[in-house]
Formats: sequence, C-alpha cells, structure tokens
Amino acid sequence: MPEILKFANYEVAVIRSKRRKSAAIKVDLDGVSVRVPENLPLSDIRSLVAEKSHWVETKLKTAAQKRQAVEAAAKQSAQLGQGSPVLYQGRQLRLKLKEAEQTRIYQQAEELIVEAPGAMAGEPDQLRAIVEQWLYARAVEELHLCVTVYKQRVGASPSRIEVKSYKARWGSCKPDQSIQLNWRLIHAPMHIMDYVVVHELCHLLEMNHSPRFWSEVERVDAQYRMKRRWLQDNGWQLNF
Ligand SMILES: [Zn+2]
Repeated sequence: MPEILKFANYEVAVIRSKRRKSAAIKVDLDGVSVRVPENLPLSDIRSLVAEKSHWVETKLKTAAQKRQAVEAAAKQSAQLGQGSPVLYQGRQLRLKLKEAEQTRIYQQAEELIVEAPGAMAGEPDQLRAIVEQWLYARAVEELHLCVTVYKQRVGASPSRIEVKSYKARWGSCKPDQSIQLNWRLIHAPMHIMDYVVVHELCHLLEMNHSPRFWSEVERVDAQYRMKRRWLQDNGWQLNF
C-alpha cells in the first residue's frame, strides 16, 4: 500500500525508492504520484508537492480533457455516418452520404462526399474503410509532394519514401536513407506535415538529435519549435 497524501483537489501516491536521490512528480491518466528517496519525511514531501500544486492541477485538467476526448472519439468513430466530422489537413470536413449505384468518394469544399449503394450507409465498418482509404491516398500524394518541395531546401534526397501506419511516431529515417512517414499526418495542418518531413529529411544529414541536427531543421524551418510543441500537445487528436 503506497502512502497517500491528500490535497484539496487531488491525492498523491508516494512511491519510495532506495535508488532515488531527488523527488519527481508524475501526472498521467492514472492520477498523481511522487517518487522520492526512501527516507524523505512525509512533511517534506507534502511541501514539495504543494510548491508544484499549480503545475499538478494544470496537468490533471489536461489529462481529464484528453480522457474525455479519447472517449468521445471512440464513441464517434463507432458511429461514423451522415454528418460525422473527418479531420483533414487541420479542417473538419463533414461526411455526406449519397445514394448511388457505384461507390465513389470525393471532397467538395468542406464536405467529404461518399456515394454508395444504399445498403452501405448502414455499414459503419465499410464506410470507415472507404474514408480511411481516401485519407491514406491523400496522405501519400501530399507527403510525396512535401518531400519534393523540401528535399531541395534541406539538400538531401531520400532513397525511398514509405507512408505507413504508426501508433506512436510521426516519422522515421533508416540507415539506407529511406524515410517513413505516418499517413495520419493528413489529419494535421499542412505546416505540421511540413515540419515532420523537414525533420526526417534532416536526419539524412544528421542521424541523431544533436544540436547540429536541430540547427539543420531550424535553417529550413525557423518556426519548428512551435510546430514540434503543437504536435506534442495535439498529436493524439489526429484521428477520425
Ligand atoms: Zn528525429
């Protein structure tokens, strides 16, 4: 049983460890915990957490918002249908289903129109597959275009571009000079896609995250810090 410290708006689980030299507070979907050196008195731990109270409460609020959004997204994706939002290059398109003999999908202004035989309208899985295929195809096109634009400015050209499905990364770069890009970047605003492409192209010059690597990124994209932060904060929402 971990010791629990009670504060006005939250509780903190105290985790003691022989190896720890300093304290570290963590806030995630499971709640707040603090890892401390084995013999640190509880009163010290309390004042330590109290000092960080504002940070903890902000983090808790963000975690709660994330949980709500993830739940809402799961609910919504289960019911993909007429009027559902589809995030496309940072914009919310509305799904519009139309009766037709042949299946077809295309964008028209702020609508994503799916024409299909009537039965399909009641098949969310099939509809999802059609929308996902369209998004993937758009991602392949946009990402290739983006590489074409930025390879000149970076001064490095990949041996191959792969557009793949990743859960926890936006891109990668292999020693054979190929780059891999997550197709879900099609959900992100274009300048965010640009940043990920520039980032991976710069890895062709510097295969690490050294200061030299970041100065290459900055040379091509002076705004990269803001975009990187945006992706850290909003990346989890890039879904449909
Ligand atoms: Zn990297």
